[in-house]
Amino acid sequence: MKILVLGGAGYIGSHTVSELVDAGEEVVIVDNLETGHIEAVNPKAKFYQGDIRNREFVDSVFDNETIDAVIHFAANSLVGESMTNPLKYYDNNLYGTKVLLESMVAHGVDKIVFSSTAATYGEPESIPILETDKTEPTNPYGETKLSMEKMMKWTGVAHGLRYVALRYFNACGAHKSGEIGEAHSPETHLIPLILQVPNGQREAISIFGDDYDTKDGTCVRDYIHVTDLAQAHILAVKYLAEGKESNVFNLGNGVGFTVKEVIETARKVTGHPIPAVVSPRRGGDPAKLIASSEKAKNMLGWKPEHADLEEIIASAWNWHKNHPNGYAK
Ligand code: UDP
Repeated sequence: MKILVLGGAGYIGSHTVSELVDAGEEVVIVDNLETGHIEAVNPKAKFYQGDIRNREFVDSVFDNETIDAVIHFAANSLVGESMTNPLKYYDNNLYGTKVLLESMVAHGVDKIVFSSTAATYGEPESIPILETDKTEPTNPYGETKLSMEKMMKWTGVAHGLRYVALRYFNACGAHKSGEIGEAHSPETHLIPLILQVPNGQREAISIFGDDYDTKDGTCVRDYIHVTDLAQAHILAVKYLAEGKESNVFNLGNGVGFTVKEVIETARKVTGHPIPAVVSPRRGGDPAKLIASSEKAKNMLGWKPEHADLEEIIASAWNWHKNHPNGYAK
């Protein structure tokens, strides 16, 4: 199959491209390199630099390549930024997807797998979270991702396109080669920020609130290895290629860890004391997010292979200690 990966130079995109290439698939990458990295572009894939909001550009890619399926990662994904600059999210995430879908329909490309998020649920009504639970996002990031899901649904009704939305929980870890990994600027995610301490780039890690209703008062999250996420995209493409109907799947390990437990595990992995300082809560953080991924396991045959938190953090550390500045020299 020839698969077009939009956002293939980003964190989850580059790991998915790597798994696709290893599985022998032909891969075409599109990325505007706004948050993606040229160094993360897999040399075995064909690369087009450009923006999905540019219809002419997107059309030219579909004109040049006979694409069987699309995997769409090209979006902005910072909750905090989406609160202060919501229209950026409506423009890139929603308008960008609208242009992409128009071009796909015009070119008869009818299968798309894309990154959705646990943020589509908002404050969960029960744990673990099921795909059928209510979706009431508490920020524009989650809102635009939920709207992307709905845009795909109605485009499907009108034009026969089929989609799989993958609602990720907390993506983390890095490729086993140590050659690609997480590199955001600014960094906002817990594990890379913790690892900046043993890397000598940060004095201490801040714990955003220790008065939540959880076992040690800090927030609980479901951490899922990026390579396991990547595998789910391959299974989702296969699912659509088998002619199955559009669907939504959670992707997590179904196990929650508190912020304090993550820090403690990082101390064990790195052998560094990693001082931690309790700070005020960060706005909009739900106390607990844990996925039920039974649906993805049953219907996609997905099986996370790197569920152990120590292994996840060790793989992240293997990347960050050798790339303290990400892809920058
Ligand atoms: N967090 C923290 N200190 C930090 C960064 C994050 O205590 O410096 C907490 C944050 O409040 C949340 C958890 O770590 O409860 C995971 O945050 P992250 O931003 O990695 O992912 P999110 O769950 O927001 O998608």
